[in-house]
Amino acid sequence: MSEYLMQTYGRQPVAFVRGEGVWLYDEQGERYLDAVAGVAVNGLGHAHPVLAQALCAQAGKLIHTSNLYHIPLQEALAQRLCQLSGLERAFFCNSGAEANEAAIKIARLYGHNRGVDSPAIVVMERSFHGRTMATLSATGNRKVQAGFEPLVSGFVRVPFGDAEAVAALAGHHRNIVAVLVEPYQGEGGVQIPQADYLAALRRICDDNAWLLMLDEVQTGVGRTGTWFAFQHADVLPDVMTLAKGLGSGVPVGACLARGVAAQTFVPGKHGSTFGGNPLACVAALTTLQVMEQEGLLEHAAQIGAFIRADLAHRLAGVAGVREIRGQGLMIGIELDRPCAELVARALAARLLINVTQDTVVRLLPPLIMQRAEAGQLTETLACLIREFLE
Ligand SMILES: *Cc1c(COP(=O)(O)O)cnc(C)c1O
Repeated sequence: MSEYLMQTYGRQPVAFVRGEGVWLYDEQGERYLDAVAGVAVNGLGHAHPVLAQALCAQAGKLIHTSNLYHIPLQEALAQRLCQLSGLERAFFCNSGAEANEAAIKIARLYGHNRGVDSPAIVVMERSFHGRTMATLSATGNRKVQAGFEPLVSGFVRVPFGDAEAVAALAGHHRNIVAVLVEPYQGEGGVQIPQADYLAALRRICDDNAWLLMLDEVQTGVGRTGTWFAFQHADVLPDVMTLAKGLGSGVPVGACLARGVAAQTFVPGKHGSTFGGNPLACVAALTTLQVMEQEGLLEHAAQIGAFIRADLAHRLAGVAGVREIRGQGLMIGIELDRPCAELVARALAARLLINVTQDTVVRLLPPLIMQRAEAGQLTETLACLIREFLE
């Protein structure tokens, strides 16, 4: 029946009907090992009993009331996210793109409030920020933008990982008000910058009164082994966006801010009908609570290190493997050639993986993946990669 759907996706020929932990089951009852987790969404795996129970209970009480009224669960979630991040206020929406829209609007309003009539935001090559008009304009990928011109103006692009290039803008672009960057690029091919990159950006932003805005839509909520990726770098952003892992699959996004950035929105400047509704907030609060109770941050760091080391061992000396990199359970294996067909080969081997930037196998397993399952993943994947490169 897919003729009734707009043809926006190239889908794998499989449909899943249920899941349990790191496993998904298709319509024939075949079992697949999930190393994609709904694109970094299902951190708790599938059908986590605590989450299922919490969602059922909330659905039986209240799903939605709108932001015309106070929502105590939204306030509790904002408080928890601020405690975990060191930021001060949250705005809730329903996706990563929407969270970045909020960040972009904060930056522009911050600029206008300071007398900058045409504010600009520094963004990076190979970045990904979403598919809405402003976020695809911020995105550093021509494929995402082509056909949708005119793009939203007000973005200045520099190479990712190059703090000097950002510093060099300070002299001659008087309109810059913010830097928007992913701590580690996901769609851009799991790119990990130098350890001092964010600290360097923080200094440049401080020197020029620019907002440092981190897109942690993919890296946030434990994915890299800390609550947020910036916590590896000992810096604090002015604005941070979250979505993917936050609600374990119930759509919820957040834009958090501190200082003047947290004071920028006033009534009437932004809003969302669904944003932060009781069901979404229970999903997020329960996700954070289970992550803490099950020690999933340390666990993700350990399992991620194991996967990278084991793949490095199994693929040692294999010509065509360029690099194995990552942080926590955000892992990239870069090959010397396009490898999109590995996704179908893995599917045939009952393993779900992703390929991004044509040549990078990307793994984003559920944070609950156990050592034995991780071993099964590395064994199957290393075989597939060896066969593919032969
Ligand atoms: C996925 C992603 C987005 C977009 O999120 P949506 O929920 O698809 O709108 C934005 N930024 C980053 C870094 C992402 O990985």
